[in-house]
Amino acid sequence: MGAARKTRGAARAESTSPAYQRPQRTWAGLGSGALCDLCHRPIEEHQIEYEVELPAGAPVPVLNLHLGCYEQWTTSEPRLA
Ligand SMILES: [Zn+2]
Repeated sequence: MGAARKTRGAARAESTSPAYQRPQRTWAGLGSGALCDLCHRPIEEHQIEYEVELPAGAPVPVLNLHLGCYEQWTTSEPRLA
C-alpha cells in the first residue's frame, strides 16, 4: 500500500505543474473529505471543493482542490507586482 501511495502522490504532484493549468472541465461542490492535491489537507464538508478534469496525457485524470487552492493554481504564473 505504501509504495502505491507514493507513486500516486508523485503523479499527483506532477499533475499540478503549470503545464496542466488549463483544465478540460471543472466542477465545484461541497467538500467530500478528499485530500487537496495542492495543499494536501482534507477538503471538509463546509468548504468548496473543485474537481478539475485534466487533459489527456496528464498523470492523473482528475484533481481535487480547495476553492482557494484552485485559484492559486490557475493564477500561479509569475506575475510580480
Ligand atoms: Zn487545498
